[in-house]
Amino acid sequence: MKLFVGQRVRAIRSLSLQLIFVPGAAFLAVLASTADFNPGWARYVTFVGVAAGLVVAAIARFTRLANSRFTTRVVVATMALTTLIGLSIQPSAIGVLTAFVFLGIAVGSAAFLRLRTATFVSAGCTLLGLIVILCRSSIPVVAATIFLALMTITSIVVIVLRQSLQAARDEAIALSLTDSLTGLANRRSMEANIPVMIALAERTGQHVGCLLLDIDLFKVVNDTHGHETGDEVLKTVAGVLRNTTRESDVCVRIGGDEFCVFTVVTTRDDLQRIAERVRVAIAGLPSTPHLTVSVGGAVTQPEMGRMHAADGLDELLRQADSALYLAKAGGRNLVKIG
Ligand code: GH3
Ligand code: MG
Repeated sequence: MKLFVGQRVRAIRSLSLQLIFVPGAAFLAVLASTADFNPGWARYVTFVGVAAGLVVAAIARFTRLANSRFTTRVVVATMALTTLIGLSIQPSAIGVLTAFVFLGIAVGSAAFLRLRTATFVSAGCTLLGLIVILCRSSIPVVAATIFLALMTITSIVVIVLRQSLQAARDEAIALSLTDSLTGLANRRSMEANIPVMIALAERTGQHVGCLLLDIDLFKVVNDTHGHETGDEVLKTVAGVLRNTTRESDVCVRIGGDEFCVFTVVTTRDDLQRIAERVRVAIAGLPSTPHLTVSVGGAVTQPEMGRMHAADGLDELLRQADSALYLAKAGGRNLVKIG
């Protein structure tokens, strides 16, 4: 499925973030593991605290046991709890531990808030954390290094989590707009996208051509060769539509054995040529059973681009359907453009 512009921008943005974060994290992690962090126990308490918070967050996320708000609270609460435990053991570690609370809030917000808000919250928290460490820690440079290392490593975890969430969301959207048998766009996708295509084409003095295709005597295929063969035939026809149309055309299975192709054209003759090309390609398939389709076509008029979004599409489909009826009545394996 083609990426929309917004998705491309998101993909590039997350790739750039990773390019910055991954080498940075590796470098800082090495520094952190070799540094002498004072007080020593705080390192373990905070590492365990951070790890526990993230593990719980990840489990909640992947098992879908909880929503993202719950997960955010888990991360932040773990950080706060870690600090309280730390303070009860050694009150002098207040600087480092407070800084880790800010880290927790930063990570939680970066993971689950809206991107812009999260950027401000995490940038603010990181700055506060660093200031606290530099003012209060016994060895500020080492503590700040470890703080930054943890910040960076957890940022990577967050980015990966966000990406998998985004990927799952994109996949769900794509599935809801795709016909599961043929992989073509479905009726819902058509209703969402074609009115925009019509309005844009009419604004630039072009027209949207609509071809409505219906497989001839498809019931006979099902009855004679079985439903599975029928399904294979539907996939074959979908493949021919993909191969005989342009990238920018939209091929849809609108239901049963009915397909639609939407393409931007200048004249009716353009649409006639495309329709003939598709019809001939299907009739020429060396398949058993032998396949033919009837095709009805219609071209938008300027007023359709100005109609209420859904009405322009409905009118176009209605005209294509009338033409399809003529093609069937004329003996099938025919093209009629209304
Ligand atoms: P005509 O030339 O007039 O179009 O005749 P036809 O037999 O093709 O009639 P029609 O288009 O009404 O038949 C559609 C058939 O498509 C009826 C239904 O059993 C079958 N069908 C609908 N959806 C599916 C599907 O997903 N898989 C299969 N195998 N068959 C389907
Ligand atoms: Mg049919």
